Formats: sequence, C-alpha cells, structure tokens
Amino acid sequence: LPSSQTDFKLQLKDLFMTVKTTHMNYETRIPLLLKTWCKAKVQEQVYFVTDKDDENLQKATGNHLVPTKCGETHGKPDLCCKTGVEFDIFYFKSTAKWWCHFDDDTYVNIDRLLEYLETLNWKKPHYTGGDHGSDHRFKTKFLGRLYYAGYLTGSVRCLSRSLAHLMQPFLGQGALVEFCEQTNKPDDILMGVLINGILNVTMTRSNLFHDHTFGQSFSDIKPEEWKSQISFSYSKYSNSNKGVNFGDGIEPAFDHREDKTRLLSIHCHLHPTDKICPK
Ligand code: UDP
Ligand code: MN
Repeated sequence: LPSSQTDFKLQLKDLFMTVKTTHMNYETRIPLLLKTWCKAKVQEQVYFVTDKDDENLQKATGNHLVPTKCGETHGKPDLCCKTGVEFDIFYFKSTAKWWCHFDDDTYVNIDRLLEYLETLNWKKPHYTGGDHGSDHRFKTKFLGRLYYAGYLTGSVRCLSRSLAHLMQPFLGQGALVEFCEQTNKPDDILMGVLINGILNVTMTRSNLFHDHTFGQSFSDIKPEEWKSQISFSYSKYSNSNKGVNFGDGIEPAFDHREDKTRLLSIHCHLHPTDKICPK
C-alpha cells in the first residue's frame, strides 16, 4: 500500500494497552489472558500494572509486569493509584495514538478494537467504552467547584493521545492520587469527572463492549455476532459465565469444568485454528 493509505490504517503499534491487576490474580486471571488474546505480537503492546513483582510472570509477559508502590486492595485510593501509573507509562513511555485500559477479567477482540478505534480521530480528544445504558451523572467537588459529570464504567476504556495531553496536568506523575483523595470516587467516575466534567469532552459509548458490571446478558448476542464484538468479561461471583450461551448448534470448545469463565471457548470460537483449541 502507498504510505498515504497506510497512514489511515490503525495498527497494533498505535495502541498502548494496560491491564490493571493484583498479585492475587497471578495464578487465575492472568494465565487466561496470556493463553488467549494477549500473546505474540499483541503482548508486545500490553503492560500489566500491579502491586507485586513476580519473576515467572515477568518472563511470561516479556518483562511487561509493572509493579507499583500502590496498595494492594480493591479500595478507591489503591485502584486510583494504579490508574495513574497506567496513564504515566502510556503518556511518558510510549508514542502510541491510543491508550486502552482493561480489567484483568476481560477478553479483548483486538482486530475489532482496532477497526472500531479507526472510526475515531486520535488527533481529537476522544474517550470511549461500553454503553451501560444509563446517563447517570455524578456531582463532584474539586478545588472548590462543583462539577456534574457522566462517566464510562466497565472493564474497557480507551482514550486518544490528544485527550491525554489535556488530562496530563491532572493525572500525570502522581497528580491523580491527590485528585482521587480530594474527590474520593472510584477511578471510572473520576475519569468521567475529569474528562466530561472538567475538560468538557463528550464520551463515545458503544454497545460492542460487554461487561459483567453492566448486568446485561451476553446470551442476547447471537454466536454469529460474537466476531463483531470488541470485549467480554466474566463475573467473579458466579463460577461460570452464565451469560455466554453456546446453544443452537454451536459446540463450545471446552466444557464448564475446563473453562469456568468461558473465555477459552469464546477465544476458540473466534480463532478456531489457535493451537490451544481442540481440533
Ligand atoms: N483489583 C486490584 N486490586 C484488588 C482487587 C481488584 O487491582 O484488590 C483490580 C482487578 O485486577 C481488576 C479490577 O481491579 O482489574 C476490577 O476488579 P474485579 O474485577 O475483581 O472487581 P469488579 O470491579 O469487577 O467488581
Ligand atoms: Mn470485574
């Protein structure tokens, strides 16, 4: 292709991805990611932001495990601190056009994600993620001013470098921690306050992102449509992803015993020739 054409095509190297994780998930959630969507070329673009170093995982991720000094709880300040580090490594250590944050219980259909992001201009401020079907707005006080802001929840959220430039004074190099402490909100809402409330940037919601926190049932999506979806996540509260319905003529690659989360079976449905998938 002539370079004028390839310039428009979003490539893997244009995407910088961070997975927020904790040492408690090293033997459960992380191996699933490394076995499925997060390997080979894709893995080169993914960093795991966590709370404890681990020699084996450093090896398995190609030294992409980023231990932070953040606390290791599910509490707001600790998660917020990790988000700040995720932002910093994207903003200061890469030149990618987009940053995507994922929770570690998420399957990502990278090809679809790239196609989708290509429809948005990275040179403009963009913040995008799942459509959880609510326009709930949060009221937050910051530096003596009251802001009403919408937010994107869910386990995938992407933003353009152009937006990152605007956010940097609030987020970069530890500034977020102070912002988190002042506002005391979970990090998805904080991002909403900053992006939508303070910076006045609108958010783009897409129903191609699927998440256990939306309470939506994945069984509503027909298997023939799975290939066009961007992401799926599973719930830690049920021992199977009940939303994923492999009925109607589609044989899951693995049964529930071997694949509690159903991520392996989703992966093999999308990539049947992968070596982890039964012949
Ligand atoms: N997480 C973390 N520390 C914790 C618990 C969770 O960093 O003590 C991360 C976890 O790895 C995941 C995200 O926070 O990427 C959301 O956690 P989880 O899916 O367990 O909870 P949810 O928010 O879905 O209820
Ligand atoms: Mn989760």
